Amino acid sequence: MDRALEAEAKAVLRAARARLEELAEEELAWTPTPAMPERRMAAAPNAQPLALADIRTLEQVRSQLGECTRCPLHQGRTKIVFGDGNANAEIMFVGEGPGEQEDLSGLPFVGRAGELLTRMIENGLQIPRASVYIANVVKCRPPNNRTPLPNEVATCREFLDGQIDAIKPKVIVALGKPATSLLLGRDVSITRVRGSWHDYRGYPVMPTFHPAFLLRQYTQENRRLVWEDLKAALERSKA
Ligand code: SF4
Repeated sequence: MDRALEAEAKAVLRAARARLEELAEEELAWTPTPAMPERRMAAAPNAQPLALADIRTLEQVRSQLGECTRCPLHQGRTKIVFGDGNANAEIMFVGEGPGEQEDLSGLPFVGRAGELLTRMIENGLQIPRASVYIANVVKCRPPNNRTPLPNEVATCREFLDGQIDAIKPKVIVALGKPATSLLLGRDVSITRVRGSWHDYRGYPVMPTFHPAFLLRQYTQENRRLVWEDLKAALERSKA
């Protein structure tokens, strides 16, 4: 094969591989929902707004949440999955919502994906999992692990915002396409936005692949990309 043809074939293969990886994550974690508005979604009319200025601690946010029935997701939950970790964490991880194991235990990221996340934090970043904070955009498990709907996100977002403002992390790591899309308020391609810095209410956000996606696509390349994202997050948290 002549060199020009070979180079062109490699470029096509690289593009195809990137697209396949993106589709794989979208298939895994992104159930189509009604069109995501470009701008940040307004609070749902029936949401009970928190007096965020008065919120100082995670305990206050948790207390304000109570046995929440503000959105329909409460109907199928076993336990509220509020969040877990260090109240003074420099790095905060955010997923889109609890899965089955999380719903049963009341703790975020405790299944196979959670174990991988723990290894990424402890073996990769070489810091204890307990030194970071881990939460989800919504605190109750969506049916069949579907992506949270805009009204559910809008209703629950106040509590994530309260957690963030209580912790004041130096860096937020958004795990996967749904969490990143929900945080940034627009439908994003995780393959395109991962590895670059974004902003959520003044907090730096580093999107990366969801650990569940990594379990499915456990390639050297994907592990390298996630490692680069986490390393960038750790470095920025120490700056
Ligand atoms: Fe309340 Fe959030 Fe659960 Fe909806 S998802 S019921 S707003 S805690």
